[in-house]
Amino acid sequence: MRKCKLCEKEAMVFFRSHRIALCKDCIKTFVERRVERTIRSYKLMSKGERILVAVSGGKDSLVLWQILTNLGYEADGMFIDLGIPEFSEVSWEKCEKIAQKLSRKLFKVKLEDYFGTNLINIAKIERREPCAFCGMVKRYIMNQRAISEGYQVVATGHHLDDETSVLLGNVLNWQVDYLRRQGPNLEESDGFVRKVKPLALCSEDEIKSYAEASEIDHVEGSCPLSKGATSHFYKSIINQIEERMPGTKLRFYKEFLKAKKEIFMENKSVKLMPCSRCGYPTTAGICAFCRLIDRVKTRIQLFQERTQFGEEP
Ligand code: SF4
Ligand code: ZN
Repeated sequence: MRKCKLCEKEAMVFFRSHRIALCKDCIKTFVERRVERTIRSYKLMSKGERILVAVSGGKDSLVLWQILTNLGYEADGMFIDLGIPEFSEVSWEKCEKIAQKLSRKLFKVKLEDYFGTNLINIAKIERREPCAFCGMVKRYIMNQRAISEGYQVVATGHHLDDETSVLLGNVLNWQVDYLRRQGPNLEESDGFVRKVKPLALCSEDEIKSYAEASEIDHVEGSCPLSKGATSHFYKSIINQIEERMPGTKLRFYKEFLKAKKEIFMENKSVKLMPCSRCGYPTTAGICAFCRLIDRVKTRIQLFQERTQFGEEP
């Protein structure tokens, strides 16, 4: 029987990259300490700030919400209802449950209120995979609501596996601008609140163990629309490397963050200006979100006109 490195009780897990065995209680302490260290090292947030956590009902965001609350941060939750049948309803219930447990405020925003329809229909109208624009839409709504509700920081549950798979994709395609902006802390700027990823140095396994040890009720599995996403493929590649060489994932990410400063010293970031329609910072005259709304609404209107005149849609 393996013993917990911190308290000598029976261990529940062994984290290979840290070469440490931990019991149920010490997993919580271990992960919370790591998150606290990440917050401090990358200056993500401070105790007096109002933080809005983007919660989806999945383990990552709910774990993040609980950890921030346990560490004494003022963190409320925001759920974006994508309108995915069954999945969105169950996800909302899980968020409500933890909001009650933590005694924190939880907001809900429906995609339908912006577009007049759900994510699946928008994807059909756009003839694109939902994941191709879902992230952009969620970031927009989170930012807008955070500003209107008076929050200074938006926190998301992205963990080390998410970050390294994105990093691999950005490197493979040499997405220099994405690389420049990638990291656990995206500072506030005109029209944007600060966006932080306090779980960025915790692996998915660590988050999973924390969720189990804390008995956090969350939706199992990933979003039903995520099938075939490239990020899954990148994650499996990185995990194969990690399997052979434990610790690679963490090193890959941390060394990137260190090297980034040197690589991008000349800081030629893209110039942003306010969207002429809604004011959101953008590189084009009208931002991607407003352009998407235009396209979706035009198609819905066209569809309604056609069905009204008895034509085949
Ligand atoms: Fe959106 Fe794709 Fe994530 Fe589902 S998997 S929530 S569609 S980005
Ligand atoms: Zn222990």
